Amino acid sequence: MSETKICPECGQAEQVEKVSTIYLLGMGLKREQGQAMRPWLSEMPQVELKALGKRLSPPSAGRGSPVRPLHPDLVVATFSLVIPIFLAGIWNTQPGMRLPAVLVLAAFYGLYLWKRKAILKRFERQKAEQKAAAQRIQSGIARWMKLYYCAEDDVVFAPGGEAIPADQMPGYLLENQT
Ligand SMILES: [Zn+2]
Repeated sequence: MSETKICPECGQAEQVEKVSTIYLLGMGLKREQGQAMRPWLSEMPQVELKALGKRLSPPSAGRGSPVRPLHPDLVVATFSLVIPIFLAGIWNTQPGMRLPAVLVLAAFYGLYLWKRKAILKRFERQKAEQKAAAQRIQSGIARWMKLYYCAEDDVVFAPGGEAIPADQMPGYLLENQT
């Protein structure tokens, strides 16, 4: 059994359990037998325990987590490796398309060089935003690991901290980070 923690809301410890433990129990990823489990948890129907575990789940990047952006120069370099093959094909089979093909390529590279600074700036910004988001989730999970839940008041709290309504936990974990 984990160390007893006192809920700052009701001053009791009987209905308190670690948030991560409830989450794992709810997901069926952890089994605690008999005395090891708090009475209020062992008496809870599995359906309710599952619902509670879901409410107390850790912050995650979500399903639509964006793909790591590729450096624009790398994209252009890769493109440049294949383009001679296409160009050679046009050169040999469609003599009339030689000039238009070269002009289109020249326009593409010209446009890229002209806009490169802005494109790189946007890339760096995207990279920084992704990194910041990943760090926020990571420190959110670290905070989540330290939280306790009190069933009496439906609040979560960090030892020595204030009580937060369980439904406000996601916002608490990701915002007001120091
Ligand atoms: Zn309480």
